[in-house]
Amino acid sequence: MEREMDRFSRLNLVAELAAGIGHEIRNPLTTVRGFLQMLRSKKNAQYMEYYDLMIEELDRANSIISEFLSLARNKPLDLHKQNLKQIIINISPLIQAEAIISDKNIKLELEDIPELLLDKKEIHQLILNLVLNAIEAMFPGGTITIKTYTANDKVVLAIKDEGQGIKPNILEKIGTPFFTTKENGTGLGLSMCHSIAGRHNATIKYESGINGTTVLVEFIPVI
Ligand code: ADP
Ligand code: MG
Repeated sequence: MEREMDRFSRLNLVAELAAGIGHEIRNPLTTVRGFLQMLRSKKNAQYMEYYDLMIEELDRANSIISEFLSLARNKPLDLHKQNLKQIIINISPLIQAEAIISDKNIKLELEDIPELLLDKKEIHQLILNLVLNAIEAMFPGGTITIKTYTANDKVVLAIKDEGQGIKPNILEKIGTPFFTTKENGTGLGLSMCHSIAGRHNATIKYESGINGTTVLVEFIPVI
């Protein structure tokens, strides 16, 4: 619990700073991208691949800013009493599509659970970020199991993968903005998850070993 609070407040501080500069950085990026595209259209074959690379890198910087801004925006939640199980069923085609691309399987084991006060869009984002991490952690052929159940008066969303697991030294840093072990990672996915969970009064726990990782999101049901 204490670690949970730490991550949350650390995140808020960084997010506030980032929100301030995010917009400012975006404008020059857009300008540079525009001029690059103009130069590229002059068909100067000698530099063509450099232009492509520069545009790609600018787009990457831009998507990092987008992710961070949505994280930092901290807009009030649009909470409604609803069924998490149904939300998962609704986005399962999207999740299935993501899994199929890299030859992974998705299994749903959804028990009936009490209704929760949820912001549907934010919960979509939370589930998607966790599933993407699970997909990225596994070799082709691996299976992700998404479960819902009730335990100790909590409603649990569990996302289990058969990946390589998270080493203890990595586990400590996980959820810190920009912490990533991936070459092309942004390190913002789990920060976003911790922020979304925190704002729903839910907590995130990791159970990880050599046989894979299970991420547990525990919600308090509405009375
Ligand atoms: P990113 O996916 O961009 O790296 P995240 O915040 O989503 O950023 O994840 C941070 C890091 O946590 C990842 O780089 C990875 O090392 C680790 N991680 C997250 N989920 C898993 C998982 N299911 N299995 C193994 N490692 C994971
Ligand atoms: Mg991720």
